[in-house]
Amino acid sequence: MIWNKNAECMSREEKEELQLALLKEVVKKAYEKVPFYTEKFDKAGFKVEDLQTLEDVSKIPFTTKDDLRKAYPFGLFAVPDEEIIEIHSTSGTTGTPVVSGYTKKDLDIWGECAARAIVMAGGSSKSKIQNSYGYGLFTGGFGIDHGAKTLGATVIPMSSGNTERQLKMMEDFQSDILTCTPSYALYLAESLEKKGVKPEEISLKAGIFGAEMWTEAMRSELEEKLGITAHNIYGLTEIMGPGVAAECIERNGQHIQDDHFYPEIIDPKTEEVLGEGVKGELVLTTLTKEGMPIIRFRTKDVTALRKDKCPCGRTTARIDRVTGRTDDMLKVKGVMFFPSQIETALLSINGLTANYQIHITRPKHLDVIEIKVETSPELFTDEMRGLDALEAKIAHKIQNTIGIRVNISLVEPESLPRSEGKAIRVIDERNFD
Ligand code: ZN
Repeated sequence: MIWNKNAECMSREEKEELQLALLKEVVKKAYEKVPFYTEKFDKAGFKVEDLQTLEDVSKIPFTTKDDLRKAYPFGLFAVPDEEIIEIHSTSGTTGTPVVSGYTKKDLDIWGECAARAIVMAGGSSKSKIQNSYGYGLFTGGFGIDHGAKTLGATVIPMSSGNTERQLKMMEDFQSDILTCTPSYALYLAESLEKKGVKPEEISLKAGIFGAEMWTEAMRSELEEKLGITAHNIYGLTEIMGPGVAAECIERNGQHIQDDHFYPEIIDPKTEEVLGEGVKGELVLTTLTKEGMPIIRFRTKDVTALRKDKCPCGRTTARIDRVTGRTDDMLKVKGVMFFPSQIETALLSINGLTANYQIHITRPKHLDVIEIKVETSPELFTDEMRGLDALEAKIAHKIQNTIGIRVNISLVEPESLPRSEGKAIRVIDERNFD
């Protein structure tokens, strides 16, 4: 099923015509209503009339996370405060939080985009959605909630945490769709396993997971443990929460709702716009947002854009799984890599779980990577000699993947901290002073 055939199956020509018309409108509005953009465009010598074709978008200056922080809290609103009916914010753990405000129309559009995502995962108005994303300033909980309501599905607003209760409701209410971060889904799956509940004894059919990086290997693990199809969903506080893009049943990239968001991929260094299928940094412009229009936002998410028609029938452009962020790429001993590369290597080895932590230290001015990996209970009961061999095998596999030597410590099952939100995968204790 497709939630909005008109929008999701429009021809590329029609779509581009629509995008250009909406872009002209939003760029003009941003320039006229938000002093930040007036100043930014003037400074860059960009005039609203310069935007005549989609290619001209590259003439518009970028907006960065720092710009959004400087505008804290309401400096980028394009409407009077009283027209804003919902506010979300980043946690601010790494600096001033970024705030986003939504008008009534913005929330309707968010609901529409999230409803498209739920339907892509096989959901319908009959679905019972166990929404285990956090409710609050974080966009996850409310975003899925808006989508479920637009769709007319039943939403079970669990929020994150209280795992015992999550499992009880999952069994008693017969939830058929689970929405949360992939690491929390894994925790729920393990908890079910521990209770002796088999995948066929629960009603889950699909999972919609996002808000953190995960891998294909983790997808397989979640699908097997929960008896579901696991779908990736994409969103970000600065633009809109979950629903900006999501995977259909083909799971060959996330359909981006490109009648509401204009996507570009740029080279993060040269800032040049890259072609279809080339990996780079995703840049997004909101096409229809009233409360806080965002022009050419540099997401720092690394992905590629595809515009060919998907076998599911949708023509919306797709973005590949986000494999890293330009800013959480790790640089150790001069080598750049993403934590997700380590996860992929780990999960290719039998008996390992997706529970791991990367510790980077710098004793005596040399970087050292230690990766703590949980073994499965079956493996852990084996002899210690077997574990030594396994550590060597893992170290070898990772060295082949990222090109540098790492130390592996196998740890007991369930000894690494569990997360009810985003998992902490990297602990970098190097002192850069
Ligand atoms: Zn598709």
